[in-house]
Amino acid sequence: SRVKKTEEFVGSIDCGTTSTRFIIFDKYAKIICEHQTEYPQHYPHPNWHEHEPQDLVDSVNTCIAAAIEKLEFLGFSADSVKCIGITNQRETTLCWDKQTGKALCRAIVWDDARTVSMVREFQKKLDEEGLPAVEGEEEVRDYAQTALEIKNGIQAKAAEAATSLLHKLDIDIHGAATPVPNHPRPEAGQSGSVTASQEGSSTPVINSDASIQPDAKRRKKGKDALVDVTGLPLSTYFSAIKLKWMVAHHRDVREAYEQDRMAFGTVDSWLLYNLTGAADGGVHAIDVTNASRTLLMSIKKLEWYEPLLQFFDLKRSILPKIVSSSEVYGNIKGGPLDGIPVAGMIGDQQAALVGNKCLGKGEAKNTYGTGSFVLFNTGRDVVRSENGLISTLAYQLGPDAPATYALEGSIAVAGSAIKWLRDQLGIIGDSSEMDALCGHVKDTGGVYFVTAFSGLLAPYWDPNAGGMIVGLTQYSTSAHIARATLEAVCYQTRAVLDVIEKESGVRLEELKVDGGVTNSDLAMQIQADIGGFRICRPAMRESTALGSALLAGSACGLFGWDLTKPETLKEVNTEEAMFFEPILPEIKRLKQISGWKKAVERARAWHT
Ligand code: ADP
Repeated sequence: SRVKKTEEFVGSIDCGTTSTRFIIFDKYAKIICEHQTEYPQHYPHPNWHEHEPQDLVDSVNTCIAAAIEKLEFLGFSADSVKCIGITNQRETTLCWDKQTGKALCRAIVWDDARTVSMVREFQKKLDEEGLPAVEGEEEVRDYAQTALEIKNGIQAKAAEAATSLLHKLDIDIHGAATPVPNHPRPEAGQSGSVTASQEGSSTPVINSDASIQPDAKRRKKGKDALVDVTGLPLSTYFSAIKLKWMVAHHRDVREAYEQDRMAFGTVDSWLLYNLTGAADGGVHAIDVTNASRTLLMSIKKLEWYEPLLQFFDLKRSILPKIVSSSEVYGNIKGGPLDGIPVAGMIGDQQAALVGNKCLGKGEAKNTYGTGSFVLFNTGRDVVRSENGLISTLAYQLGPDAPATYALEGSIAVAGSAIKWLRDQLGIIGDSSEMDALCGHVKDTGGVYFVTAFSGLLAPYWDPNAGGMIVGLTQYSTSAHIARATLEAVCYQTRAVLDVIEKESGVRLEELKVDGGVTNSDLAMQIQADIGGFRICRPAMRESTALGSALLAGSACGLFGWDLTKPETLKEVNTEEAMFFEPILPEIKRLKQISGWKKAVERARAWHT
């Protein structure tokens, strides 16, 4: 028998929108072997997009088995893979039966826009009724927490301050006016809320469930109410709305929901559950980055937020446990990686941020895949965008670690427009032909393509925008349209970065990039020209997979990696990157951008 080579590796499952891959990395982030497989896309109606949940699980198992076979062929054994991470297409929503472990309906994919009218209804509810929460409640709770902690030392002072804060917020509590020391300790299970006002005590009581009644006039209304808690606007994009649709329209889902058999999850949750045993002990969890895209989590507290559950009328029993992006969640059951810990989970765009090592405040990346996603690390601060960006979780490096946040510009259509040129127009046979076709012309000849296939996301957020190609002349060719397709994502990226620069006060000099569209050198040069900044394209461009591998390795102490200490990663992915410098004269750049803005104005509100 052959002697197996001994080395240690980390694996990463990257379950994207169109395909899954399993990549095995060594400590330098060199890819040892990988396997990728596409799975079927279902578009049963215009604007609908579904996945068969079992297809996702099967694709993962296929990729793991095939990659491990390759690994063994290279002379390593399967157990040289020490841990794995998961990264996934975000917002895509699934639900399954906890008793059988089987999915209850197809997954609704992130770019599915069937819920437009449901979003309108919730918008109306948000405007008219608002969230069932008390203004200032978070601050009162936070204060209450602190007050509790110091109560034994300086009770009277804490109570006095609590009272004045309550007064300031005009919250009426019996006995709050006269703080008296020596009130009893709260019972176990009541920690986190200040409780008193028991018989014979006149000390303040803060208990959001009982004493502070959600008074109608204190309800927070309108879109700010949601943004304040979740960082997100109401949109077809986020999971809660998709989940509501499932419960409302699928009989099996509704039955399971009513009988408390139903589990909700995003793709990370579904894969973890299946890898760790499904109905036979599978772990039901969601990482904070995925949870931050549901519209149900408070991004500051990293907890499911009760007023949101009430607003959307969803039961807590269906929700997974929120976990950090880097910790051991459970061990794989069965298959070639049996017993190996799953130790990293993170949404794909956040993973790419980590994989590009954008771990410092002010660092940014753009991933050009099916859609395109700019993430800008804002460190410990939740930066509230006034101009159409999302405040999102970037990562949390362990259960007790603080959260790191990001501003995100989500562009729905990038590579999918190139696919459209291939599949619907037939002007290319393969996406790799783009550069050759576009190379026939030096510019778009004044053609603009607003790729609003299902509305526009950041920074425009217009669900009613319609896709359009404008500026056509008798001389326009397929090459002009192809070039305008590449330009579309570059203009949108510029628009998103305009907002980021404005709101952060940081001028971006360099953008790190990855994703399928970055295979196109021309697209990257166009981006540098339209953007007016340098593009840095790393040699190893599987940044998404690498991100979850780094999180898993870091949780398990593999290779000495520790994401809280970026210097421990200095040997990771150091192969030379390629740079694209802007060469378009500024005056031309601005003229083109103003043409794009005009085109977007035409596309807006098309469907109203
Ligand atoms: P996802 O993870 O969202 O599935 P990928 O990062 O794999 O996406 O990127 C896939 C996209 O990249 C496809 O939509 C494809 O059209 C585009 N793409 C791949 N190669 C090229 C190329 N050489 N030029 C332009 N676009 C490309």
